[in-house]
This record gives sequence, structure tokens and C-alpha cells, in this order.
Amino acid sequence: MPAQRNLICHLPSGILGRACEWHTILPIADDVIYDADVRLNKSSKWYSIIPSGCSNVYEIEGVLMHEFGHVFGLGHVDEATHGNLTMSVNSTPCSYADHTWGKGDYNSLAAHY
Ligand SMILES: [Zn+2]
Repeated sequence: MPAQRNLICHLPSGILGRACEWHTILPIADDVIYDADVRLNKSSKWYSIIPSGCSNVYEIEGVLMHEFGHVFGLGHVDEATHGNLTMSVNSTPCSYADHTWGKGDYNSLAAHY
């Protein structure tokens, strides 16, 4: 089966994380992800429990939830209308807001599987 490596797997500075997906390109079917990995930016500051005096650090689980959402085929939702969902574009520093999926995230995942 022909395969193509995703060419946008690099992680630019200022981006917290990225899902790296390897796709199988089928001639008559939708593109299928057959392998994936997630990269996190080492230059960002991470926490699992919000530290006192928190400033510009990110909860690692929330960012991983977002990136693994991409691994499972989810795209971004509009920040202005769905900013509270894990699959919105922006992460909120010093917050557990992206820690769990919202109903919209869940519904999108359920529609895929
Ligand atoms: Zn994303």
C-alpha cells in the first residue's frame, strides 16, 4: 500500500505541540492515518499542577489532549465560537481549561468512529 510521510512534522518556535501523522494515500478512498506521534516544544514551560504565581506556562495534559485529538482525526474548531473546547486553536496558560474534552469535542470524535 503506498504511503506518504507527512511533510509538516516540524515544530516551529512559539507552537506548543504538533501531531505528526503518516498517511496512507488510497486512490479511491479517503486519506487514512496509519501512524502518528506527538511533539511538544521543549522551550515552552509545562506543568501538571498549576504552580503558585503561574505565568505563561501550560498544562501538559491539555495540550496532549488537543494533539491526540488530531491523531484521532479531529480538526480545529473556531476559537471565537468554541474557545472552550479542547480542539480550539489556542491554549490558555495557567488553566485546566483544555484538560478534558467538551461535549463538542466528544461529539466530533463520536462522529468519526
Ligand atoms: Zn491543533
